[in-house]
Amino acid sequence: MKYELVAGFETHIELATDTKIFCSCSTAFGGAPNSHCCPVCIGLPGTLPKLNKKVVEYGIKAGLATHGKIANISKMDRKNYCYPDLSKAYQISQLYAPLTIGGYVELSSGKKIRLHHIHIEEDAGKLIHSHGDTYVDYNRGGVPLIEIVSEPDIRYIDEAREYVEKLQQVMRYIGISDCRMQEGSMRCDVNISVRPEGSEKLGTRTEIKNMNSISNIMKAMEYEYERQVDLIENGGKVVQETLRYDDATNTTSSMRSKEDAHDYRYFRDPDLVTICVTDEEVEEIKSTLPELPTEKYKRYVSEYGVPEKDAQLLTKYRNISEYFDKAITDLKKPKTASNFIIGQMFRILQTEEDKEAFDVKTTPEQLNELCKLIEGGKVQNNLAKSTLDKMLESGKPCTEYISEEDMAGLDDSFVDDLCRQAIEANPKAVEQYKQGKEKAIMACMGYVMKNSKGKANAQDVLEKIKSMIS
Ligand SMILES: [Zn+2]
Repeated sequence: MKYELVAGFETHIELATDTKIFCSCSTAFGGAPNSHCCPVCIGLPGTLPKLNKKVVEYGIKAGLATHGKIANISKMDRKNYCYPDLSKAYQISQLYAPLTIGGYVELSSGKKIRLHHIHIEEDAGKLIHSHGDTYVDYNRGGVPLIEIVSEPDIRYIDEAREYVEKLQQVMRYIGISDCRMQEGSMRCDVNISVRPEGSEKLGTRTEIKNMNSISNIMKAMEYEYERQVDLIENGGKVVQETLRYDDATNTTSSMRSKEDAHDYRYFRDPDLVTICVTDEEVEEIKSTLPELPTEKYKRYVSEYGVPEKDAQLLTKYRNISEYFDKAITDLKKPKTASNFIIGQMFRILQTEEDKEAFDVKTTPEQLNELCKLIEGGKVQNNLAKSTLDKMLESGKPCTEYISEEDMAGLDDSFVDDLCRQAIEANPKAVEQYKQGKEKAIMACMGYVMKNSKGKANAQDVLEKIKSMIS
């Protein structure tokens, strides 16, 4: 029997606010243990939390960017549990009335992974195990989080990868988080179950907690899928539980039996007021959002004729797409600029971090100027390419390297002469071409391009030479 994978995600994302969710302590990563703390965020009795407005704003941005509905009224609840990373023995979160409802993340196939809701909450502290002792660092306690809860719409491990990448991309675009999985500012819990293919009924699910890299998520899901299928095929039953993934052994192991919401005895936090957001406020926040990557991607492909694969590269990071948007001002063929970005610029921006920062010496205006020379027929591609290399090194405009003479264009009869000379100079290649070896003609073409200093139009030259030979 074939089994279908059914998976849903709970994704925690740390918000890039300067201060914590209920006090004015810094949210900066690192710092000496317990140096970014105050009575509120270590939960001393008698202190009162006060909600950071920016957290609500960022949460609304996340909801809008994932097509969710923003709740006009939402509330904070206490999630009760006892563990040393949370000294007041409850986490302030949202259960009954979260900030945003519904929405979806669209994959490249067009499939939409629906979201159940997004809520805001506080992060807990960190336990540090060292030399047989355990220490607590509350610097992270009270750092604001959003939790994005998806419906169990994921059927393939590749869909899971793309879902996480898309979330990462969109949250970075709207500037609410750096989503660095290795630093813990984005962490995923995955709910997994399997069911016989064709069945509508959901199987019993397990939850793999706190994964901090996309490759671990994929490996853990694969392992857990196989484990559940094996179990069922051997007459066993999947038990609802919370698992930990160990990347050293590539296995999952049980942490605890999976709890349900009622285990936490959630109740409304009486210390915090109801969050009221008007439609006007939502509209105002919406107007500050940039164009989102999926929309940009569609625009590049349909309006500009950029190939899909290139459009994906251009929209991966906001800095690249904004550079491209500026560089193509008034261009007839935006693809010229996209080729330069993906070709020559990406070559000097080798790591993903480099690409994300997109710090190149050539300004988009300078690239635009160069592209316009090509479109105007003033320079040929070869010359433009070598010019761009120099521009990228120096930061100077193309006019530094291309003279008036270069741009003067070539007299047609001069090109004819060069073609004739090329044929005379390459008798062997001409002979081979006549015998059917198409590529041999490139020797003649090379001669013309070289002697015209790359100014001749390659396509014209090719046609001229061919007609002269035959
Ligand atoms: Zn504090």
